[in-house]
Amino acid sequence: MADKRRFLVRFWGVRGSYPTPGLATVRHGGNTSCIEVQVGPHTLILDAGSGLIRLGDDLMRRTRGKPLHLSLLITHAHGDHLNGFPFFSPLFERSTTIDFFGPLLEGRNIEQLVTPIMSPPYFPVDIRKLPSQRAFHTIEDDQYIIWRNGYGKAEVVFDQDDIKDAEVCVYSKYTQSHPSNGAIHYRIEYAGRSVVYATDVEWSERYDPDFLAFAEGADLLIHDAQYTTEDYLKAKQGFGHSNIEMATGVATAAGVHALVLFHHEPTYDDAKLDAMEAEAQKQFTHTRSACEGMEIDLLTPQTD
Ligand SMILES: [Zn+2]
Ligand SMILES: [Zn+2]
Repeated sequence: MADKRRFLVRFWGVRGSYPTPGLATVRHGGNTSCIEVQVGPHTLILDAGSGLIRLGDDLMRRTRGKPLHLSLLITHAHGDHLNGFPFFSPLFERSTTIDFFGPLLEGRNIEQLVTPIMSPPYFPVDIRKLPSQRAFHTIEDDQYIIWRNGYGKAEVVFDQDDIKDAEVCVYSKYTQSHPSNGAIHYRIEYAGRSVVYATDVEWSERYDPDFLAFAEGADLLIHDAQYTTEDYLKAKQGFGHSNIEMATGVATAAGVHALVLFHHEPTYDDAKLDAMEAEAQKQFTHTRSACEGMEIDLLTPQTD
């Protein structure tokens, strides 16, 4: 693989809570959370929802037997963010190396969170017996995941001094609002551009100033926007998800350049999601509703 200057975000699963196949969701897609980020020479994957399954097959097709080096960044351990993982075909290949990153939840590190999902009695195949190479990195708040120039391995560092010569840097921020253990959010920076992935988060009276600082000035904010404001106020407060007003409010307050509405409510069909997108665009112009297959190139100036 030649050296590449690229920063490409590709959506493989955009749905919240549970997969929703069917004609009513065919345009936005029914798979749960999974985003591929091609950044420089690295492949990062945000969450392992059911969208991960097709991504795995596509990665295998693209690399045609060459070794795959992947970094899988998990926000939290709810099923909609992990349910594609046991069917991720690169895991079964000897030539695959996967670094897992994720939070400590209920006293369990990321290896302890992931392993039960892919081992008996919950799954017939035991991840510990697979031929791929796996490393697990539990992330605490305000740590950094970095890649130095070239094809080097990912490193987890604590000190701001260590990120100065990083080619790619991932910042992490933990928020508590998602029941009952919270979720981690990630900000990926490369070549002066940035994307923030903030799903499974709910804001109450005000936005957390620390989070706003974390998201400040991002080129792209992918934010939880599960509910219409009306549905949220009627019955969904405290569920740990945002409405579109919260997503556009954060985008405005953090001064981001573009917003993607993400983690769609599974009972909403394409028409309802289109209406939410139109409503959100009145509040924050550069807003799009996430759709499976959507690609955003962060190195190309965004126009719309
Ligand atoms: Zn979720
Ligand atoms: Zn969740």
